[in-house]
Amino acid sequence: MNHLLSVLAILLTLAACSGSPTPPIYFKVAVIVDMTTDPVTREQAEDVLAVANQKFIDLTGFGLQLHDFVEDHSGGSIASLVENHMEHTSDLPNGILVFSVGDEDRARIHRAYAQQIPAPKDFKNAFISPYLGDGYMYVAILQFNYRYAACGYAGTGIIQSHLSSPGECPGADGQACAGWHGMQVCPAALEFLEGHTPIDMAAGTIPHEFMHSFSDKGPDDHYSSEACRAAMGWEPSHYVFEEAEYYSDFCPFVYDVFGDSYRP
Ligand SMILES: [Zn+2]
Repeated sequence: MNHLLSVLAILLTLAACSGSPTPPIYFKVAVIVDMTTDPVTREQAEDVLAVANQKFIDLTGFGLQLHDFVEDHSGGSIASLVENHMEHTSDLPNGILVFSVGDEDRARIHRAYAQQIPAPKDFKNAFISPYLGDGYMYVAILQFNYRYAACGYAGTGIIQSHLSSPGECPGADGQACAGWHGMQVCPAALEFLEGHTPIDMAAGTIPHEFMHSFSDKGPDDHYSSEACRAAMGWEPSHYVFEEAEYYSDFCPFVYDVFGDSYRP
C-alpha cells in the first residue's frame, strides 16, 4: 500500500470510529451454503465475514454482520435458494452471500458474481439501491473452494497430475505445480498468493459483489474500466495495483453511493 492510500485508510478508519468504538450500523448478511457444489463450514463463513467486515468498514463506514447461516441441499438455482430462504424467514437480512459454483458454473469460472432478487412485498431494505429501490435482496455468489491458478486439475475440481495440464499455466505445459493451502497452483501465481489464504481471498470479493447492486453499469463500474477513470477524473492510464486491491477492484465512488443509501 502506498503512502497516500495508507493515509486514506487511516482517515477512513478514523471516520468510521468517530463517536463510537465499533461501527453502529451493520449491513446484515445471511449466508446460504449450496452444499451440493461448494461445502463451507459455519466457522469458515464466520472467518470470511470477519475479514470482509474490516474491509467494509474501511470502505463504507458500515460493518458486515453474519445474520444467519443456512445449509441448502436442494441443488436448485441461486434464485430458488434465495427465494426459499426469504419465504421461510421473518427477520430478513440486507444481503445474502451464497457459497456456490453458481448458475451455469458462473462462480466456478469467475469466482464470484452479483445478482438482485425481488424480496417479499412486506420487506423494505434499509439500504436503498439508487437503481433498484428498497424492494430487493442483494445477493453475492462466491465459490469458496475456487481453484486459484489451477494447476494439474485439467478442468476438473480434483487433482489429475502434479504437472500442469495443457493451457492451465502461463508459459509452458507440464510445469511442476506449486502447493498453496492444500491446492495445486501454477508456480508463477505463488508470489501473488503467498501471504493470502482462501479466507481473505474470498473476503476480498465481497465488497465488490455487493457494490454491484448500488450502480447499474456492470463491468463499467470496475476499478479498471474507462468509465470509472472518467467518473473519478483520472488520467486514461491511471492504474495503481494497491489501490485496485484496496477498493476490491471496484470504482471508489460507488462506495459513497452505498454509504448514502442507508435510509432506515
Ligand atoms: Zn464485478
